[in-house]
Amino acid sequence: MKKEAEKKKKTRRGRKKKFKCHCCGREQLFCWNCQCGFQICPACFEENRWGMTNGPTWICPDCGSIRMME
Ligand SMILES: [Zn+2]
Ligand SMILES: [Zn+2]
Repeated sequence: MKKEAEKKKKTRRGRKKKFKCHCCGREQLFCWNCQCGFQICPACFEENRWGMTNGPTWICPDCGSIRMME
């Protein structure tokens, strides 16, 4: 039984959290993210802006949560 086969331990101390956009699949310095784990980078966000946000909030396409843009 393998438990943590997919876990790469490359982090040392001082954890640097990297984001990975679920839309373009690239690692990003920053992504809008949701409690469900969904992440989207600002570039993809802009592309989907019309469908995700109208103002100070955006809606997670995965779980439908309304998220604040902060
Ligand atoms: Zn992206
Ligand atoms: Zn979500």
